Amino acid sequence: MQKFIRFLKQNTTKEQYEAITYTKGPLLVTAGAGSGKTRVITFKIAYLIKKGLSPDRILAVTFTNKAANEMKERVKELTGFTPPWIRTFHSACVRILRKYGPVIGIKPEFKIATETDQKNMIKEVMKGQKERERKRMLLLITNLKNNHPAYVLRQDHRFIQPICRKLALQLRLKANGAYYYYLNYEKIKKKYEYLDFDDLLLKSLELFQFQPEVRKKVQNYFEYILVDEYQDTNNVQEQIIGHLMRKGNITVVGDDYQSIYGFRGAVIQNFLDFKKKYQAKTVVLGCNFRSVKTIVEASSKLIKNNLGQVHKDLYAYDKTEIPVCIKSFEDEYQEAQCIPGIIRGLAEHRGCDYKDIAVLYRSAYISYILQHELIKQGIPVIVVGNNFFFKKKEIKIIILFLRMVFQNDKLALMQFLEENFLKGFGKKGLERLKKYVETLSTVLDIVKETECGKEFTRQQKMTLRALKEGIETVKKYNKSADAIQAFLEAFPNVFSRYLIAISDDKEQLQERKRSVNEFLSFAKSHQDINGLLEEIALLTDKVANVNEKDAVHLMTVHQAKGLEWKAVIVLGAEEEIFPTRHALTPAKIEEERRLFYVAITRAKKYLLITHAFWRNNWDNALKISRFVKEIPRECVIEDGL
Ligand code: ATP
Ligand code: MG
Repeated sequence: MQKFIRFLKQNTTKEQYEAITYTKGPLLVTAGAGSGKTRVITFKIAYLIKKGLSPDRILAVTFTNKAANEMKERVKELTGFTPPWIRTFHSACVRILRKYGPVIGIKPEFKIATETDQKNMIKEVMKGQKERERKRMLLLITNLKNNHPAYVLRQDHRFIQPICRKLALQLRLKANGAYYYYLNYEKIKKKYEYLDFDDLLLKSLELFQFQPEVRKKVQNYFEYILVDEYQDTNNVQEQIIGHLMRKGNITVVGDDYQSIYGFRGAVIQNFLDFKKKYQAKTVVLGCNFRSVKTIVEASSKLIKNNLGQVHKDLYAYDKTEIPVCIKSFEDEYQEAQCIPGIIRGLAEHRGCDYKDIAVLYRSAYISYILQHELIKQGIPVIVVGNNFFFKKKEIKIIILFLRMVFQNDKLALMQFLEENFLKGFGKKGLERLKKYVETLSTVLDIVKETECGKEFTRQQKMTLRALKEGIETVKKYNKSADAIQAFLEAFPNVFSRYLIAISDDKEQLQERKRSVNEFLSFAKSHQDINGLLEEIALLTDKVANVNEKDAVHLMTVHQAKGLEWKAVIVLGAEEEIFPTRHALTPAKIEEERRLFYVAITRAKKYLLITHAFWRNNWDNALKISRFVKEIPRECVIEDGL
């Protein structure tokens, strides 16, 4: 312990040290970007373990899976232990629900609905409506569940109905339909035995709120709780934490400058009220260890334009003055052609590996042309996005099959047939199959029964027979990688034909084959197949861990939260794009500014901001973003790098 204390003293500031070693009561650490908040949590877990706490009784909640994994590894380096409860909110809730869910009628083997499943379910409910409307409806449901958990949990329809109405009006949906769509969505979800992402939190809250014995058990189990990015917790998460903490055994860290999930129901007030509510001690960290002076100054000046923010002073540890570079382009093609050269320059002359470089953008569509250009010029890239790896067709088909076999997922059966992996199931065939999906309870029963059903064509029956045989073969394996291998062997010719059919050219075909191998090696690190499927479901919109090669990372600013790179390129700093044209109120503009703050504070040394005057899909010329103008001139160089 003495050695560890010495280590801490040498590697932390006075304030950081205080935050790490304070255990007498609730603690709030508040500080700007890059000031070591996440590091404080990591070191504190190690400190608590050294002090004698059992590693499996420490709960640390992070915002992304990537952050959780990095934290686990670092704690292991420091202590030799890997605490199992360093998790995202959702993944912690899954684990709790698997164990205690049955108390409130949830089967321990419940399935998690991914975004695609949600989209499919809402499609079923809102037949004939436009995608835009269906998207808004899903947003409405999330909003309802996260902002009004009490009514939803009590099924208090006197309140739910008017809330649906109000939200529908805000989202420009038909007020009357919304409530019924919500009810039907819930019904279908139940039929397929899914919990969606919001349910994971909501059901955990139900458990703690209405089952005092379970609450006590879990509360007594966790000896210490730490929460990162507390400014972005929503009401449900805040209440869950409230139930889990005992007196004083909690540290939360956050930065109100970086609250960027308002649109998903995050409530910044929770963070601001924490101190009062729990009489918490507060530690403020003032030194930014991540970025050079110019970047720290640029970001501080920028955020001062938010009137609804309590301002704090931040200073840079690294006093180097590397100017922030701003580059103008005629249009997005010119932008896309220039950036690969800049990236090569960073690699050749500024000591950056490709993995030290990130390209960040407000919305994914801004990046497509650049993505294409980077790949064309042979620069390795990882596009982090909505589960991009698991959405690749060749991987998706395997996952759907595994879900069918091991989770008895009937929706997966429909999706599998829809992909046309096995020929012969058009729209009509699926429509006919649906009846069986509704009446029979297992995937295998459905396939067996329909295999000889009169209403199916010969081709369809052959497909169903092949499917049945495939399922029966793969079922025998319980290790992930073996099951995948068995799937590939069960359909050898079909699978190669499928790969050819979905590939544009030879190169893409090779790439797809590589992905399948990569998926196999990913599966090897997850022996248990249900564990694998659970992790994949939870990875949605999080940073995937596969493909950790030396490559430039491309992602939205939301996905970049908490991360850092030596060089960051912020793409598309234009009015109507960043801030998005949807930000119409002053409050929303402030959230956009916080998002811009997050974007530029990811950079350690080099920061490049680009803007173009013309982009596809825009009739008018674009103006440079107000946020760029808010960066002080003395920090900036036009056309540097
Ligand atoms: P964000 O708000 O972006 O999440 P943060 O406050 O969580 O940032 P960290 O990611 O913990 O900040 O730290 C930022 C960087 O500064 C990391 O590279 C970290 O290792 C480094 N750092 C933090 N504190 C110190 C310190 N006392 N000495 C040296 N490096 C430090
Ligand atoms: Mg952090």
